[in-house]
Amino acid sequence: MTRDSAPLPQGSTIGILGGGQLGRMLALAAARLGMKTHVFCPDPQSPAFDVTPHKTVAAYDDEAALEAFAAAVDVVTYEFENVPAWTAEFLAERKPLRPGANALAIAQDRLAEKAFLSVNRIAVAPFAAIPSVEQLEDELGEIGMPAVLKTTRMGYDGKGQRTIRKKSGAAAAFEALSPKPLVLEAFVPFEKEISVVVARNAAGQVAAFDPAENLHHDHILRTSTVPAGIKRKTAKRAREAAEKIVTALDYAGVLGVEFFVLADGSLLVNEIAPRVHNSGHWTEAVCITDQFEQHIRAVCNWPLGNPSRLADVVMENLIGDEIAAVPASLGAEDRPHAYGKAESRPGRKMGHINRVRARTPSN
Ligand code: AMP
Repeated sequence: MTRDSAPLPQGSTIGILGGGQLGRMLALAAARLGMKTHVFCPDPQSPAFDVTPHKTVAAYDDEAALEAFAAAVDVVTYEFENVPAWTAEFLAERKPLRPGANALAIAQDRLAEKAFLSVNRIAVAPFAAIPSVEQLEDELGEIGMPAVLKTTRMGYDGKGQRTIRKKSGAAAAFEALSPKPLVLEAFVPFEKEISVVVARNAAGQVAAFDPAENLHHDHILRTSTVPAGIKRKTAKRAREAAEKIVTALDYAGVLGVEFFVLADGSLLVNEIAPRVHNSGHWTEAVCITDQFEQHIRAVCNWPLGNPSRLADVVMENLIGDEIAAVPASLGAEDRPHAYGKAESRPGRKMGHINRVRARTPSN
């Protein structure tokens, strides 16, 4: 994956799979560094299309379109982890794919992800593969209740999961999610949810941002607050775990790691995302290098930037009609970012605001 480690020259073209807001913010960062982007997305209304010089509107299994895309770019990256394995393989045979196919395969499958983390001695909640309702009943005895039954693939924002509180609820939960492959996890009585965005480049250089403390409503991220309300040593352990993960993956690019923080300060990884992350949007307002520039630098084999934070910040997602309050409600230290989506729908991420505050001396 990272064998060819010469830095890509300015003017090179970065292929981006996916044209949502993350692809858009990557294209903006790439332009600032003197790189061209070519965004590939099936949706003709993709927000990234407004800011990229080159685009392809085609399905992810359109072989001719992928062939032409591969020929037009110098490196391929992506803004979402559910890139079909066939598409990733097809492109990786033609151009460097960063992050590599191994990271995609692991992040696409909750079982593979937990197995990978466990082998690398990164703590996760107790878990088990669930092939049948009988196995589910057995494992509920082992793991205890409540427990969370999840589809191993294609789950996001809380979709594809059921919490089981009593054995009598097991069959209904299994019925609702099967025949998809399933995994059972112990319910984690977490105190907080935090995430660390970390980068690694081909030279093995690693740089983690400060942990963000995340609040979700209806399984959608509402705010990321930095510094997180955790002890300094917990923050250090979270960054170290994130750095260990990208090193074990021989990774190139930015990766998001979500953790549960327990009452005693111990950490369990919930999931990893092989891409720039919503909980890292705060970095664009208060860090020397933000996550988008960092990802572009990493996939181009450039030296990484300094991830240090210069101020405190709360990132608020603007969901649905909340975007309409911008610009009237903006304070002087509020940094808005709109995704340019034509239509606002309930639950749709339309933009975010970074509310910047003076850095508190203690963190
Ligand atoms: P996920 O799709 O796995 O990121 O889960 C979405 C959200 O559901 C997480 O951010 C948690 O708030 C909650 N959640 C997921 N898994 C567990 C678990 N094992 N124990 C407690 N809460 C969970």
